[in-house]
Amino acid sequence: MKKKTLATPEPVAGQCGCGAVTIEIDFPARWAWHDHTQASRLAHGAAYATYVGSWRKRFRITAGEEEVTRYEDRASGATRGFCSQCGTPLFYERARSPHMVNVPRALFQNRTGREPLYHIGIQELRDWTYTGQPLVPLKGFPGVVWERPKRRKRMPEPMF
Ligand SMILES: [Zn+2]
Repeated sequence: MKKKTLATPEPVAGQCGCGAVTIEIDFPARWAWHDHTQASRLAHGAAYATYVGSWRKRFRITAGEEEVTRYEDRASGATRGFCSQCGTPLFYERARSPHMVNVPRALFQNRTGREPLYHIGIQELRDWTYTGQPLVPLKGFPGVVWERPKRRKRMPEPMF
């Protein structure tokens, strides 16, 4: 009987906005989540950030290491790496999890093997974050959709 060899999935490649820095992780990622904390919101300039976590030994910068600039937040013990050319956040490391590297999910075009089913810092969710409300086309602006505002109940007119 022939021994079956399990196919080793290819590593998953990612890159920054300008392409100067490329990275890869071994498939599958360890886990994936949405991060609603203020620190990640500001680092990304976005409502929240979605990460995949990789074991450090399964994460590699494959090109552009010299373009990576790091910001260390001494108060939290976190270090964030960015592309010095285009500003794309590349990774996020925490002193208390030295074996893990968190990588923005958006850097990868292809599947990472983990769905972001988890939320961190959900109590910090902003009230302006889009959370899936129904959208309708905005008349006169092709390609723009919007949340139709809820009708406010009119206060009854005072009667004199
Ligand atoms: Zn770049």
